[in-house]
Amino acid sequence: MSRFQREQLVEEIKLKGIKDENVLRAIATVEREKFIPKTMAHLAYKDTALPIGYEQTISQPYTVAFMTEKLNLKKEDKVLEVGTGSGYQAAILYQMGMKVYSIEINLELHNKTKQLFDELGIRVHAKYGDGTIGWAEFSPYNGIIVTAGSPSIPNKLMEQLTIGGKLVIPVGPRDYQDLFVITRLSEDEYSKETYPRFVFVPLIGKNGWEKNKIK
Ligand code: SAM
Repeated sequence: MSRFQREQLVEEIKLKGIKDENVLRAIATVEREKFIPKTMAHLAYKDTALPIGYEQTISQPYTVAFMTEKLNLKKEDKVLEVGTGSGYQAAILYQMGMKVYSIEINLELHNKTKQLFDELGIRVHAKYGDGTIGWAEFSPYNGIIVTAGSPSIPNKLMEQLTIGGKLVIPVGPRDYQDLFVITRLSEDEYSKETYPRFVFVPLIGKNGWEKNKIK
């Protein structure tokens, strides 16, 4: 049943413009119901964000697919995710064959999702901490994906890209963001593409929003 629902979801996001076959195959394979509260399992294959507790959300599948497509990664590439959340985005990247590093700032969510990765055999390097400073130890990354809305582009993340690597990050005010795709062209040159109007929960931390200013 859920395979059929996943294939329907794939058709829906294809109609919305997602073309990358590897991304579509991963969406057709990863069981999204495993990453959401059981009470919401019937909504797993709706193309919508859902609450996962701790005032956080699992992103809309279309958004996950769009951001993953924009990363333009290949198998064995190294990718850093900022905002592990439910683990679904990391699971999609892992399914596609990338080496995945993921950081979550909420300790309870980090512990819960790390346990889920273990249960599902998803070998993602997950750590608790502030992802706005990146994860220097394993840098540089072929791609960095930030799954929370940032007030600006953290320099530390740009510095941790390979030449040719891409940073996909929602940037803007508290209540909506544009998606920036930053490509590192050389040691000190970057290009930027912008895709308007997404809505993410806030990125908090050293180079993000201040926690106590969040409504
Ligand atoms: N990628 C997630 C998924 O697949 O479910 C969606 C995550 S949710 C939209 C954003 C997550 O970013 C939340 O879990 C939040 O706690 C986390 N977050 C916010 N600021 C962060 C930071 N500075 N470092 C790491 N995680 C952060």
